[in-house]
Amino acid sequence: MGVVRFLDLSRQIAALRQEIDRATHSVLDSARFTGGEHVECFEHAFAEWCGARHAVGVASGTDALALALRALGVGDGDEVVTGANTCIPTVAAIEQTGATPVLADVDSDTWTVDPASVDAACTPRTKAVVPVHLYGQCADMRTISGVARDRGLVVVEDAAQAHGASYGGYRAGTLGDAAAFSFYPTKNLGALGDAGAVVTNCEETARKVRMLANYGESERYLSVVPGGTNSRLDNLQAAVLREKLVQIDRWTQRRRELAAHYRESLAECSVHLPLEAPLREHVWHLFVVLVPDRATFRARLAQAGIETLVHYPRAVHKHPAYRHLGTDRLTVSERLSEQVVSLPLYPELSDQEADRVIQAVLEAAG
Ligand SMILES: *Cc1c(COP(=O)(O)O)cnc(C)c1O
Repeated sequence: MGVVRFLDLSRQIAALRQEIDRATHSVLDSARFTGGEHVECFEHAFAEWCGARHAVGVASGTDALALALRALGVGDGDEVVTGANTCIPTVAAIEQTGATPVLADVDSDTWTVDPASVDAACTPRTKAVVPVHLYGQCADMRTISGVARDRGLVVVEDAAQAHGASYGGYRAGTLGDAAAFSFYPTKNLGALGDAGAVVTNCEETARKVRMLANYGESERYLSVVPGGTNSRLDNLQAAVLREKLVQIDRWTQRRRELAAHYRESLAECSVHLPLEAPLREHVWHLFVVLVPDRATFRARLAQAGIETLVHYPRAVHKHPAYRHLGTDRLTVSERLSEQVVSLPLYPELSDQEADRVIQAVLEAAG
């Protein structure tokens, strides 16, 4: 028996090889590498799939978040609140705008940002909140929107892990003023390199993101906003993403099927299982469980040939670069960072492999 890999992207590439070859050939034939037909078509298709009016392709999820915040007026002197249980790019993107990130704690049931903690973290300088739809599940958007409305904040969803996830029947990308998506290769919708998009219903925001991402230009060689940058989605990545977008609903369905199988089969064992909260449809970017003794648990799984990863081994303020963001309100985030383990879950994982994961978890956890 071989190893059950945490993720094996070669399976997805093999299954879609013809479509990907066709896509790359069409870009080579057109010799159009930035902008172009594929970028426009993908932007339209992705916006429509999210149920939103606009999508603007950019170079990465980090850029998408920074550009969305900047387009909504966030900059020097502002504060932006986000959860402490996230990966660094969320915070790095906030810093890129000139604003100061402020950390809130996460909810102990859903592990997404706790609206009460967001409220407590606000000051008169708070301009925006960035709820992260962590692991593939939307944050508590109704309550967060309420806090944002009361305090006059803009809401930018970090939807890098949540393509197609929904809250109250509405998909990520439509739940705030704008949303940032990543198409990093391992995300639920992944390119062949870095790529991202800003999704919004607001035409003005989309227009501003487009200008900021292209040297501040409103038309070629006419720059109308300062501080522009170069953050484009390549035609090649867009061509591949168009092909993959056709498949994503089927992939998500398979992720949900595997997650349901794990949850049912592991219901009686001692690991703490992830929750799919009311109103929310989880897309299982990651299947994360909590265990009290992570090192032993992971060693036992490794012995059984099961690869696991940790998302994330430290809360944001436990990184050397971000110690100054620490407060005494971040206790749930800190506890999670000590106990989280991600099990293999991706659309091409076979039923047999899933059963091996379950068997190994049952034996490791007792
Ligand atoms: C991947 C990810 C990002 C950053 O996306 P990149 O495309 O890698 O820049 C931001 N936030 C979260 C939650 C992510 O998972």
